[in-house]
Amino acid sequence: MTGTRPLDATPEHEAAASETAILTIDLDALLANYRRLRKLAAPAECAAVVKADAYGLGLGQAAPALARAGCKTFFVATLGEAQALRQLLPHATIYVFAGLMPATAEFFHQHDLRPVLNSAEEIREWAGFSASKGETLPCAVHIDSGMNRLGLSAEEVDAVAGARDLWSVLKLSLVMSHLACADEPTHPKSEVQRKAFDRLRARLPKALASLANSAGILLGPDYAYDLVRPGIALYGGKPHREGTNPFLPVVHLKGRILQVRTVAAGETVGYGATRRLQQSSRVAIVSVGYADGLFRSLSAKDDEESLVVYIGSHAAPILGRVSMDLITIDVTFVPETASRRGQWVELIGPNVSAQELARHAGTIDYEVLTNLGRRALRRYIGG
Ligand SMILES: *Cc1c(COP(=O)(O)O)cnc(C)c1O
Repeated sequence: MTGTRPLDATPEHEAAASETAILTIDLDALLANYRRLRKLAAPAECAAVVKADAYGLGLGQAAPALARAGCKTFFVATLGEAQALRQLLPHATIYVFAGLMPATAEFFHQHDLRPVLNSAEEIREWAGFSASKGETLPCAVHIDSGMNRLGLSAEEVDAVAGARDLWSVLKLSLVMSHLACADEPTHPKSEVQRKAFDRLRARLPKALASLANSAGILLGPDYAYDLVRPGIALYGGKPHREGTNPFLPVVHLKGRILQVRTVAAGETVGYGATRRLQQSSRVAIVSVGYADGLFRSLSAKDDEESLVVYIGSHAAPILGRVSMDLITIDVTFVPETASRRGQWVELIGPNVSAQELARHAGTIDYEVLTNLGRRALRRYIGG
């Protein structure tokens, strides 16, 4: 090839000329994260939480890839998600966090799904259903160890613990609880919850135990028990608030420069005229907005620190309001050859983590991933 090579020689340049946004999901990175978590938690089994369409990345691609890497147990939030997953993975063990809604036992049974039972009432219902089928059907029991969200309270554990008639007709395949503050490694609540979990599960029939989400796995072996339930770390999120992220980015979002203009000092940029330029600036208009997951709260008015996005290795901060389809970025200090019409701009990727984007938007990377939108061209690589 003669002539100048694009600065950012990623495959985006070979993508269809008509595309304005590309969301690349790197399944090799997903699997590397899975293997890393499995190693951290060993000898515990490493399950995968694939609720909310695998945190927005695509259940249809993520779940089969994880299964090929050896993952056998999956968690989803809802029955609808469980049904979709069962079609993808006929032999996987699938748990449903939402538990047993009234009149759904038959559906669980038909699709070989396991409810995570969240109350004594649900346990009684599942036991009754099991007995009516003449089978001992598997299920998990969720103990609330101090988060006060889903799960059996200590009193409820006591109430059902001695009920032989219940436990003899169902198969307690997992006892689990969930940590409230594991993202803060020194928070004292994690240990308080771990002790409560041990105290309460000792009253129930013997079963495999599970306490750790992604952040819990990073708290060390005391939290791994028999099975761990990572979600966000698989998808390249950052489980602990402090320190560096040990997991690889999986999501890459790129948009395109549609126009570049020079704007005089004193002029304003975008809706609401919230950003007044202090100096004459080169401004690039980029083809992604809040409909693509770039939250409107990333808008940066005068004197606000804004998210910095990248063109190759060149940094360019967001200027003014984020609109539905567009953002404006300051390319005054980006070489003109790198900031032309048609150039690709990294919004999420190796230089702009989902966590960094989230920090600027006043949210967490979980919400960034589950809000990526459906407009960008989705590409899956690796796996
Ligand atoms: C979502 C969820 C997980 C996974 O949490 P991450 O922080 O994403 O690792 C684990 N357990 C329960 C009960 C959950 O709801």
